[in-house]
Amino acid sequence: MEQITKKAYAKINLTLDVRHKREDGYHELRTVMQTVSLYDELTFQKREDQEIVLTIRGASPDVPCDRKNLVYRAVSAVMERFETCGGMDILLKKRIPSAAGMAGGSADAAAAILACNDLYELHMDERTMCEIAVGIGADVPYCLFGGTVLCEGIGEIMTPLTDLPEMYFVMVKPDIAVSTAEVYEALDREAASWHPDVGGMIRAVKRKDARAVAEYLGNRLESVTIPRHPVIEDRKQALYGCGAEGVLMSGSGPTVFGIFFDREQQSLAYEALRGMEGIGQIYMAEPVADIRD
Ligand code: ATP
Repeated sequence: MEQITKKAYAKINLTLDVRHKREDGYHELRTVMQTVSLYDELTFQKREDQEIVLTIRGASPDVPCDRKNLVYRAVSAVMERFETCGGMDILLKKRIPSAAGMAGGSADAAAAILACNDLYELHMDERTMCEIAVGIGADVPYCLFGGTVLCEGIGEIMTPLTDLPEMYFVMVKPDIAVSTAEVYEALDREAASWHPDVGGMIRAVKRKDARAVAEYLGNRLESVTIPRHPVIEDRKQALYGCGAEGVLMSGSGPTVFGIFFDREQQSLAYEALRGMEGIGQIYMAEPVADIRD
């Protein structure tokens, strides 16, 4: 095999709790992640030499094209570990908005690790891939597998859950940038100690109870990000106004998503939001149970 194309799917957090800051500076998380049907597309082609040549189409200016790109870092990390992994020409078609709370960069990095494995027949086991992935970023191990997963530790301790019941999402990314690092710094200074009911969400997912999933949505980081960026609350209200059964900010923001129980409601909300000037980028998506399909 000389060339391979992979989809790198975005994620949302159905619930996200931040427990405490560890001595190594990372935060202990407890979050239920869900893959959604919005994806970047990456084509990887073997090279004769050890170069990594990355071309990006469709990205916003804040996505680096150089060695800082997570795709580049992921391939380099695999090459460092496996002498038999050679260079690659990579074309990244970017659709997932960056710095949005949807792990777009992490998904690209995970796709790159999987592509190295396939193209250069490295026969990596899951553990090896996860070790490389967590060195790139906390969300990268999850992005290797996707689906509905409870992620703990810094994100690398994964417990697969039952697939979500039928539901549809509308996601709104306001035209602002949110720095994940700043959100966590601000969280450390915050006195409030509300925590989402992660156990309740896990039970709702296991029961395949769509209404309970909508009820148990919760994100510890909303109380940090939203006061700094009130536009996020406006977008949440816009989604509720369009009939969403539940609405939440994903990750550290600023993307918010609404849950709808049928496709028609989802389309109606999407069209209504598209008519609102300056609202930001709007996407329709569905849960993806298996990223290899
Ligand atoms: P998370 O939900 O994991 O916090 P995010 O959606 O907030 O992720 P990303 O889109 O993954 O953020 O990227 C965050 C930053 O990483 C961007 O601002 C960009 O500078 C950098 N970056 C590096 N590689 C990529 C990539 N392949 N795609 C997008 N951003 C990238």
